[in-house]
Amino acid sequence: MKTKKQKWFSESTVPGKRDGKMIHSFLIENLVYKGKSRYQDMLIFDNSVYGRVFVLDNIVQLSESDEFIYHEMLVHPALLAHRGPKKILIIGGGDGGTLRECLKHDPEEVILVDIDKQVLEIARRYLPFTSQGAFKDKRVRVLHEDGKNFMKRYKEYFDIVIIDGGDPIGPSLALFEYPFYWDIFEALKKDGMAAFQIGSFLDTPLIQGSFSKLRKVFPSVVMFRLTMPSYHCGDYCFMAASKKIDLGAVSLPALKKRFQAFKPGKALKYYDPCMDQASRVIPPAFRVK
Ligand code: SAM
Repeated sequence: MKTKKQKWFSESTVPGKRDGKMIHSFLIENLVYKGKSRYQDMLIFDNSVYGRVFVLDNIVQLSESDEFIYHEMLVHPALLAHRGPKKILIIGGGDGGTLRECLKHDPEEVILVDIDKQVLEIARRYLPFTSQGAFKDKRVRVLHEDGKNFMKRYKEYFDIVIIDGGDPIGPSLALFEYPFYWDIFEALKKDGMAAFQIGSFLDTPLIQGSFSKLRKVFPSVVMFRLTMPSYHCGDYCFMAASKKIDLGAVSLPALKKRFQAFKPGKALKYYDPCMDQASRVIPPAFRVK
């Protein structure tokens, strides 16, 4: 049971709503970092269940024990469906986990745009398990500005755009808006694809709203279902969108063939073609009408 001396981090359920009707708590067994940047509050602590935990604006972003699920599922479905992405853009993702997974596809260029320079600084220092040196790769360029503005400067340049922001509050809110989705569409090449971290399936308006906005912009949009044990908000939704190929028509045999060509020596702990296909099975209650 909780004792007076112990320090706890408490997060309200369905992050982004923070209605405080249901609180989840993590024992802070070792406080690693606590600070505030121009954009967000930051907290990093150790917990013997989840390992090192990274929190922005009172919402868990990742934990050492399960960040691989999030980063593998955000990156590999779209990049394997694309079959040979060379120019990749990541908006957000300042912890470096998404970047680490993108580099496994041997791109020519990856641009990472995170509004908050301080996230990269503390991630490099206290979360080495996310980037695993990815920021040192010569093909990577890091910029610090609002991804909403950056997006407008490129036309038909990227093969892949990945939106790895936070929940739809604070600086991340702009990354869930319809005009931003059009800017992504324009910045992608003719056969370009995009991947989006969306949120908990408990947040029906967010899921339905994001899907219908993306469907207005992209001809093909698919949802992926995953569970992040450290998120305490039930099944989690990512989406992928394509300008040209039908993402729903990527068959398991085709995916297995590409995966065999991609896989040698790549340490993946969650994603494989069967998980790709299984993650597309959405329970009736969560399906978008
Ligand atoms: N990879 C993380 C995970 O595993 O959950 C996802 C969250 S990542 C830490 C979210 C990042 O998005 C933060 O570093 C934040 O600074 C950045 N961000 C939020 N809004 C942004 C914006 N409008 N433009 C660029 N970066 C933004």
